[in-house]
Amino acid sequence: MVSPDRHEDAPGPGEADGSPPQTTPRGPAPLGGNPSRTAPHGTGPLRLHADTGVCAGAGQCVRAAPDLFDQGDDGLVVLLRADVPEQARERALTAADWCPSGAVGVRETP
Ligand code: SF4
Repeated sequence: MVSPDRHEDAPGPGEADGSPPQTTPRGPAPLGGNPSRTAPHGTGPLRLHADTGVCAGAGQCVRAAPDLFDQGDDGLVVLLRADVPEQARERALTAADWCPSGAVGVRETP
């Protein structure tokens, strides 16, 4: 039974509701894209995580940042280092953008 205060006809997130499409400042990812990523906009050090439980083995993270990611024999992501060196910052963000499954997360550390 549907709750009386639930509006079944109301558009949900991402549906055509007349609002402008959401875009990232970096433009669309070439393959897939990670809608769950919230890009850190600061300049603080970045920390990565990679969730093998949701990794689909696509390898985009390795393509974007081979110094930060590898793939195991099973194809799943292997995080080579969690703390992102400053010179790898853009590659880390790109890897998170390109990961089609949302397995790569990046956050700014205080
Ligand atoms: S973490 Fe994402 S980009 Fe990397 S291998 Fe897994 S699914 Fe592919």
